[in-house]
Amino acid sequence: MSDCVFCKIVTGQMPSTRVFEDEHSLAFMDIGQVNPGHVLVAVKKHADNLYALDGAQAAAVARASVRVARAIRDAFKPEGLSVYQANGKAAGQTVFHYHVHLLPRHAGDGMELTWPVKNPPREMLEDYAAKIRAGLGKPIG
Ligand code: 5GP
Ligand code: ZN
Repeated sequence: MSDCVFCKIVTGQMPSTRVFEDEHSLAFMDIGQVNPGHVLVAVKKHADNLYALDGAQAAAVARASVRVARAIRDAFKPEGLSVYQANGKAAGQTVFHYHVHLLPRHAGDGMELTWPVKNPPREMLEDYAAKIRAGLGKPIG
């Protein structure tokens, strides 16, 4: 995608501070640094979001995330680490090239995510699950 900022980072047309890469993934410092050590793990080949990934891309980002998360833990000794990933504007996505945030966390760091719990009855969970199972299709390639 010619006008995609993360595609330009992957190709080197735009500068970034890289921490890790393999065939399908690139990890680099988030320019926004919500807390020190905040890293983005992105796919190299453009995919708008989670839905667009193939199996190799999904596996590469997951593996890179574990490896980089351990390195963040060892380097910054955060009290916790949040893995954040948004798909679509309504979910808060601002760069429409698939990426995962690895965000070191500290008590009282101001990072807030409202979690409006509903606790529906079991029958409703069964109904939701049946709808999702019906759409699983084949394993991703
Ligand atoms: P999203 O809101 O899509 O989950 O996250 C996008 C992230 O990309 C933001 O945290 C933002 O700081 C980061 N970002 C946006 N533009 C650039 C850039 O040019 N370079 C880097 N390193 N990060 C960027
Ligand atoms: Zn892109």
